[in-house]
Formats: sequence, C-alpha cells, structure tokens
Amino acid sequence: MSMLITGGTVVTATGTLEADVLIVGEKIAAVLARGPATDAATYAAATAATDAASSGPAGTGPTSNASADTVIDASGRYVIPGGIDAHTHMEMPFGGTFSVDTFETGTRAAAHGGTTTIIDFAVQAKGTSLLGTLDKWHEKADGNCAVDYGFHMIVSDVNDATLKEMEACIGAGVTSFKMFMAYPGVFYATDGEILLAMQQAQRTGATIMMHAENGIAIDQLVAQAVAAGRTDPVYHGLTRPPELEGEATSRAITLARVAGCPLYIVHLSAAQALEAVAEARDAGQNVFAETCPQYLYLTLDDLARPDFEGAKFVCSPPLRTADHAAALWRGLRTNDLAVVSTDHCPFCFKEQKELGRGDFSKIPNGMPGVEHRMDLLHQGVVSGEITLPRWVETCATTPARMFGLYPRKGVIAPGADADIVIYDPAVRQTLSAATHHMNVDYSAYEGMEITGKVAVTISRGRVVVADGEFKGSPGRGS
Ligand SMILES: [Zn+2]
Repeated sequence: MSMLITGGTVVTATGTLEADVLIVGEKIAAVLARGPATDAATYAAATAATDAASSGPAGTGPTSNASADTVIDASGRYVIPGGIDAHTHMEMPFGGTFSVDTFETGTRAAAHGGTTTIIDFAVQAKGTSLLGTLDKWHEKADGNCAVDYGFHMIVSDVNDATLKEMEACIGAGVTSFKMFMAYPGVFYATDGEILLAMQQAQRTGATIMMHAENGIAIDQLVAQAVAAGRTDPVYHGLTRPPELEGEATSRAITLARVAGCPLYIVHLSAAQALEAVAEARDAGQNVFAETCPQYLYLTLDDLARPDFEGAKFVCSPPLRTADHAAALWRGLRTNDLAVVSTDHCPFCFKEQKELGRGDFSKIPNGMPGVEHRMDLLHQGVVSGEITLPRWVETCATTPARMFGLYPRKGVIAPGADADIVIYDPAVRQTLSAATHHMNVDYSAYEGMEITGKVAVTISRGRVVVADGEFKGSPGRGS
C-alpha cells in the first residue's frame, strides 16, 4: 500500500521545504521537492538512493508525478514528523488512586493531538525488580495503544540487584532511568543512591532523568503550612519555592559531573533551575532539560483560583509566576531547554483532586496535557516565541534523538517510519473538556483560543485521525 501527501510544506528541525511525501507500507519512501529544479534534483538524487523508492516512480524526476493508492491533499498545511511525548503517566498509581487515562484512552488522545509516540514510565515499587516492573507495564500497554510507545524506568529502590538489572533493562530497550530528589518515603533517593545509579549509567551508557526538587526541605514547609491552617491549593505552590528546584538541579548536575553520566532534567519549571542547566551546558557537560506546556502558559494565579478550583493545576514542580515562563521560552530558543513533553498525569477534579479538600498535600499531583502539546507549542510559533523548525525539533526530533528512536522516528526522510502529521496552521480552535479526548473531567486550558489544529495523523503509514475523527484501533501501536 502506498500513500502520497501532496501540496504541503514539509517542516523539519532544520527548515521548511515545499515537497510531497511518498509512503510505502509503514515507511517514508521519498520526499519529493516541488519548485526550483536544482533543489528538486538534489532531493531526487537523495530519494533515488533508497530501496523503498524503487517500488514506485518516486525519485525519478524533478517534479512529483508519483502515483499512489491513496493521495492526500495537504495544500496550505504543514507536513511534520509525528510528535513524540517523552513524558507521560498512563494508569499511574499515585496516593491510593490511578491517573485516569489508560494506555488506550491516553494514546487515542495523543493521536488526536498529533503525537504518534509516547514514552511512559514503568514505576518500580520498593522491594520489586526492575525487569518484573517492565513486564508489568508491557502488560498494561500491549494490545491497547493507538500509537507507538516506549518506557523509561523509575528507579525507587537502589540496591545491588537493581543496579545490576539496569544493564538488562538496556538490553530490553530502556535506556533512561528516572530518579527523584522529591517525595521522601515514596520515590525519594538519597544523594548516595543517586550517585550509585549515575555511576552505573556511566558504565552502561544510560541516561539518568531527574525530578529535581529538594523534597526534604519541601516536606518541612508543607508540614508547617498544613499545621498553620494554610490548606488551599495555592499553598502547594508556595511550599515548593523555585529556589528549591534550582538547588536540587544544581546538586543533580554536580553528582552527574562526578559520576560522568548524561543527565536529563524532567519538567523544568523555574528560572533558577534553567540557569544551572545553562551554566553546565556552557561548560560542556552532557546535561539536557525538558519543560512542559503548563509551565509556559499557566501560572501560580491558576493555582490560586477560588473554590478549590486551583486543585486542577496541582502538579510538581508547581506552576510559577509569569517571569519564569518568559525565561522558559527564552530557554527553548537557546536550546538550554531541548525538549517539550507533557508530564501527562490526569486526575479527575471530582473524587480524585477532591481527596485534597481541606489539605492541599493530599491532592493527587498531575495534570492532563498529552492531547494539546503540539497545538500549544504551535501557538508559540504563532506568537513569535519560537520558529517552525524549532517547534518540530523540541516536540519530535530531539526527543527521538534523546531516547534512541532516531532516525526511525522524529524526522521526515526516506527510511523513517511514516509517522506524519498534517497540520492546519490557520484553523482556530477553543480548548475545552467538552471536546477533548482525554479521559478526564476538566481541561487545564478551558476556553483558551488558539490558532492551528491537526488535520490528519498518520502512524506507520496508517491514517489514525482525520478531521477530528479517530480511525485507528487499540493495539495498533507497538
Ligand atoms: Zn512525571
């Protein structure tokens, strides 16, 4: 089966090109430039070299006259690599409850929003093995996902057996291990444990991902606030000051320098943390960081909404003041922030977030977001914060490179998986729980008007979403 996407503007991490894209089976077979003959000749030469192209007329001339079983007109639209969300939590156990998107509903919502790969977290419980944990998460996901998926491993129990197992995990395709400097008694690891895992990462070529907040100090501030009757959701933010994210980020960077391993700071939200990352990167250290749309668009004011509504915005690290968001946009431009992912971890407002009425420390931490990351970052292109190629780079290409998926994913080039999104940059949409596809009863962006929307999502050569309608099936993702 072949498919030809005609008339669109192909956007990659390095630029834009007026080109048609030929898909054969599950792979991109050719990218055929329209326009000046010199450019086209270059592309024809490049595509003629691919074996997939030999099955069709692609790559034989300067203009695209390839025939295909299906032709999709992408005139006036962008043709981009499918989004890769490197940070999601489907069906995640937290505080006696579970995040409400299953792998089925969460990946369907992802497809609606132009994300064709998620990397979720397998969560090691204390006293259990890493490989057993990985099996368990495969059981949850296998046969249920609408798009492709991978796993990071959360290491919450550092011991000799766990450290040894890290190597076997790498053999099983997990190259990234997440640790926590927050949540004492749950996920928290001491500096010594972190150092041991980092040394093992250095030996084996793995990456350590870090939740960098000083949880020991934060827990004291939380206890003080609750004891003093300051129990509204906004105190979730006020008891996790940006300085304690900056401090933990610096400490993680120092530990990684001593151990000599690559470090990836997850969900960076504070200017202080960004400064530490930028300094380390300027010094040549292998340190990377991601941020999330909520830190770019929402603030502490949302956490302070009255009548407990602020609970909808409880996540960790917390939402910050607007000056931090401005610093994060700058970080995206300078590449001190390399990736945008969502930390999608949805809990319903009713019954789940409400567990924390009267005590903010009992509000499940997490927000829905997997569906609208591509839209919200495209909105950053509309408002002039980032460029089109940078949108694609931070949302697809770099996460693919960072976690071992490149060049199979994250790029539009012959030989890559045909994970492609046709994006309409002109259509207006209003974000709302009434229209979103995530299995959660509120939208963090309710009523927000943005420009741009997914027209078609293609996962390995198959249309899974077209004009807002789901055409895929659970279990198609691998
Ligand atoms: Zn997370």
